[in-house]
Amino acid sequence: MREDISTAPDGAAEAIHIENLHKKFGELHVLKGVSLSARDGDVVAIIGGSGSGKSTLLRCINCLENPTSGIIRVNGEEIRLKSDSHGNTVPADRRQIERIRSRLGMVFQSFNLWSHMTLIENVIEVPVHVLGIKREEAIATAEKLLARVGLSDKRDVYPAFLSGGQQQRGAIARALAIQPRVMLFDEPTSALDPELVGEVLKVIADLAREGRTMILVTHEMKFARQVASHVIYLYNGQVEEEGPPEQIFGTPRSERLKQFIRNIG
Ligand code: ADP
Ligand code: MG
Repeated sequence: MREDISTAPDGAAEAIHIENLHKKFGELHVLKGVSLSARDGDVVAIIGGSGSGKSTLLRCINCLENPTSGIIRVNGEEIRLKSDSHGNTVPADRRQIERIRSRLGMVFQSFNLWSHMTLIENVIEVPVHVLGIKREEAIATAEKLLARVGLSDKRDVYPAFLSGGQQQRGAIARALAIQPRVMLFDEPTSALDPELVGEVLKVIADLAREGRTMILVTHEMKFARQVASHVIYLYNGQVEEEGPPEQIFGTPRSERLKQFIRNIG
């Protein structure tokens, strides 16, 4: 049986809402009408083969890519887009993008921390310089976050002197420092040596257990099964199947999903 560590209470508010999202890169139609929703406390796991559009989907939520069409609401606010003179979709309001990003904590596969800053400087950078939080206050918060991810003793160390697992835990602390409503993870362990994966997954599982809302792209199927409240299987830019983890991993319906699980699991 799955360890049920994250279920959103019924009636929880929607933190992320995506409707009929399309993204094209030139002729390449990458996302073909994806819809998803994450309520407060949900852990949405996105799985799917390489090139299925998982990163593009996350990057659209964080406004790192502009969708070709469709609706994205973050924190109840719909991202406003317009067409530029070349017919490309661009943000209609730069300040809105900043506001939306300030509600999201993002952790990528690798290269997360700024290499010219110590760990604690990394964690306080956005709170102090973007959010205008007092330095002492930001440091106090950062120290708590570093303790939480088990890195108190690495406070003044530069990223180059941290292991990959420590860097990712530091990146998680940095993302949490803005007190995001939603955490977005894009394969946070796939660039790590196998022996370092567990320590990072443990930190993410702790966040799930605390009821943090997150959208998590992962290849760690056992982990997704444990922490997710909802799993979305993307195939070729579309939601091929979605449901609770016990359905997706236990009784998948789609032949493609069955084959995917066989190959990866
Ligand atoms: P996944 O994360 O599931 O592996 P991606 O979202 O990274 O997939 O990529 C989906 C498809 O979009 C791939 O074919 C990829 O090459 C293409 N793609 C991603 N980003 C860009 C970009 N900036 N320009 C052109 N093509 C892109
Ligand atoms: Mg990807």
